[in-house]
Amino acid sequence: MLITDLIQSHPYWAIALGAGTILASEVIWGAIKYPLRLIGKLRPPRVHEVVFFNELVENCYSLHYNNIRSDSEGSMEPDSQCANPYCTIKGIGKMVKQIDQAVYAVDIAIYTFTSMALCEALKRALHRGVSIRIISDREMVFSSGSQINLCADLGVPVRGPTTTFLMHHKFLVIDGVERVQEIQRLKQRKWMQNTRSVLISGSVNWTRMGFGGNWENCIITDDKVLAGAFQAEFNRMWKAFKSLRE
Ligand SMILES: [Zn+2]
Repeated sequence: MLITDLIQSHPYWAIALGAGTILASEVIWGAIKYPLRLIGKLRPPRVHEVVFFNELVENCYSLHYNNIRSDSEGSMEPDSQCANPYCTIKGIGKMVKQIDQAVYAVDIAIYTFTSMALCEALKRALHRGVSIRIISDREMVFSSGSQINLCADLGVPVRGPTTTFLMHHKFLVIDGVERVQEIQRLKQRKWMQNTRSVLISGSVNWTRMGFGGNWENCIITDDKVLAGAFQAEFNRMWKAFKSLRE
C-alpha cells in the first residue's frame, strides 16, 4: 500500500506523519544547535589591545604588597581593585590569561625569559597537554634566572640560531592555525576543537626589568592575519634552527 493511499483511508495518519516530521526536524536542529551554542559560550571574548610598561607600573606596589613575595613577581596576585592602568601585575596577568586559554599549541620566540608568572602559566599549559616550543638566543637560554632551561627540563623543545646575530624576537603564538593543523596531522586526529589564534608581541622581554621599569609595549591580539604571519615565521625558523640543548 502506498503511503498516499494510507493517508487517504486514514486521515489521522497524515496528522501523525506531519507532527512526526516536525518533531524529528526539531530534534535534529536541536542536536546541531546545542553544541554550536556551547562552543559559542565557551569561546573566549575577542582580544585586541596593547599593554604598556613604563615608569608608572609600580605606582600601585603598596596595594599589592601583601600579596608579593620578595623573591619574584611570580607569586603576585592581580587585584581587581587596582586602578593603575599601567599596573605591571595586570599587564602580566593579561598575557597569563591568554596562555591559560591555550588548547593545543604555544609557540614562543623570546630573547630573554625570567618571568616566573609566565613560566607557571606554561607549566599549567603543559599539564593540559598543550604542545609548547621555544626559540631563543643561545647566549640567553643559559643565563641566570632563565625560565627557558626550566621549561626544557619539563620536556619543552628549545631551538635557536648558532650565529652571532641575536634572536631578538619577543612574541608568542597561541593555537596558530598552521600549528594546530600540524598537530592534527601528527596525532592523526579526525576532530579538533574549534580554537582561536592569539598573538602576543612587542618590545618587552619577559623579565623583571622588562615588566617592572623599562618603557615597553606588548600587543595582544586575535587578529588572524597577524597571528598567521607570525606562526609562519616561527615555523620557518623552527625548521632552520637546531636544538640548543644538545
Ligand atoms: Zn596594580
